[in-house]
Amino acid sequence: MKLSEFIHPGSLAEARKALRGLGPKGLPLAGGTALHFMQSKTPVTAVDLTGLGLSYIRRKGGFFSIGAATPISDIQRYRSPRWAMHEICRRISTHQIRNVSTIGGNICRVFPWADLPVVLLAMNARMVIYSGKESEMGADEFFSSQPARLFRGGDLLTSVKIPVLKAQHGFGSVKAARNAAAFSLVTIAALLELDGTTIKSARVAAGSAIPFPKRLHEVEAALVGREAVTDVFKKAAAAGGTAAKWNVREGMSADYMRQLAEVSLLDALERAAEFARGRVN
Ligand SMILES: Cc1cc2nc3c(=O)[nH]c(=O)nc-3n(C[C@H](O)[C@H](O)[C@H](O)COP(=O)(O)OP(=O)(O)OC[C@H]3O[C@@H](n4cnc5c(N)ncnc54)[C@H](O)[C@@H]3O)c2cc1C
Repeated sequence: MKLSEFIHPGSLAEARKALRGLGPKGLPLAGGTALHFMQSKTPVTAVDLTGLGLSYIRRKGGFFSIGAATPISDIQRYRSPRWAMHEICRRISTHQIRNVSTIGGNICRVFPWADLPVVLLAMNARMVIYSGKESEMGADEFFSSQPARLFRGGDLLTSVKIPVLKAQHGFGSVKAARNAAAFSLVTIAALLELDGTTIKSARVAAGSAIPFPKRLHEVEAALVGREAVTDVFKKAAAAGGTAAKWNVREGMSADYMRQLAEVSLLDALERAAEFARGRVN
């Protein structure tokens, strides 16, 4: 994508006004790393979102609130009790990319390899959208199809709210890739809520090897009400093998990808259980 002009608005209202005026000739711009992947040859005016005070991580009530223009490297470095976002962030591309790529850019236009949508689906995050005033949308609705649909009229993502995990919660994420900086072959994230040793609720999501990030309801159903033990995790992971159409990726057969998904699911579930038992973090 080519940029013909740069606008530096002084407020969210100014940014939205500019984008509404520009219509399809305008583009909200955060880190700018996705321009490279956007095919359009028509030059657009970039509306810079990096000077609007949207780069922060705060714990507020029952949520961690992450500003939309917060670089992935800041999320990777942040620490707080029962914070789990850093694991996936350190697996995204290289230091250089993470220093400029923002959480908003990663999730407002989802590319097939995007890792954060998978994690935010599992964590049941809430997205805060500015349309003159702020309103919230849950992850299931936000990622029900390409989120870029929500921003065509000049509205903007301002922050992402991630529920603070409670003592009975466990979280695990796995990114299977050819090497440290490669795009994901498959990304899995799992959030388990335990009642003693029983799984009270589960949110499990996948991405990269499937057409669009989504929750794996068959895996969740195979977990809820059962013991948080390896045998149960194995059966749930096997249910994941048939819960989605696993795409052929980077020369790997569909059958290989299905098996990779199952192994990654098992790994993510074991990690989530370890986390809940307090052995991680
Ligand atoms: C070589 C390379 C490898 C990568 N590997 C991975 C990887 O393995 N996993 C991974 O998850 N990511 C990876 N990424 C990053 C990912 O592909 C995107 O480039 C990045 O997340 C976009 O973030 P950005 O801040 O640069 O967004 P930008 O490029 O600025 O914007 C991306 C899109 O989001 C929109 N947008 C941005 N912020 C907002 C907002 N607040 N409100 C509304 N719309 C907004 C923009 O208009 C644009 O359409 C990689 C990037 C590169 C260049």
